[in-house]
Amino acid sequence: MYTRPLARLIEQLQRLPGVGPKTAQRLALHILKRSDEEVQALAQSLIDAKQQVGLCQVCYHLSAEPVCEICRNPNRDDYTICIVSESRDVIALEKTREYHGKYHVIGGVISPMDGIGPEQLNIQPLVRRVSQKKIKEVIIAISPSVEGETTTLYIGRLLKPFTRVTRIAFGLPMGGDLEYADEVTLARALEGRRELE
Ligand code: ZN
Repeated sequence: MYTRPLARLIEQLQRLPGVGPKTAQRLALHILKRSDEEVQALAQSLIDAKQQVGLCQVCYHLSAEPVCEICRNPNRDDYTICIVSESRDVIALEKTREYHGKYHVIGGVISPMDGIGPEQLNIQPLVRRVSQKKIKEVIIAISPSVEGETTTLYIGRLLKPFTRVTRIAFGLPMGGDLEYADEVTLARALEGRRELE
């Protein structure tokens, strides 16, 4: 149906989340119509992003610097840490403009079925971080799926000896991702946080 290089491009695009066969075809045909320079810039930006973006060595959020901008910002509260599962949750919470503390991205949720235990996540560095500094509060903002719940309780148990542990109030549908919540809902969830039992 497609000449080979075009078929390969469509196949690659189709591997992206949310891109079905039709969208992949539309994007590929669109790319072929762009100038050489534009296509070169697109390809280069993919390679640059992949090569240059790593993880912040403090909070594990995506960063092109060894320590991310949020961790380096002196105007943010050093003594409150919001714990999220993925970097996209940091982005969602930042969009609310209601949170002024720091973050810690654990990099997933505990899921024995998928072979993900606490050791596979950035939980040890979190415990170290909380136990070494006089942290006032940690706010756990992990979606309440079955795995998310297990993860929240596990982290809560580890951190309670060191600090106050709260969790955001989920008015979100069970298992709903933070990134799908609108900014107002998320801001309210943050404001309505409660002590973790
Ligand atoms: Zn950071």
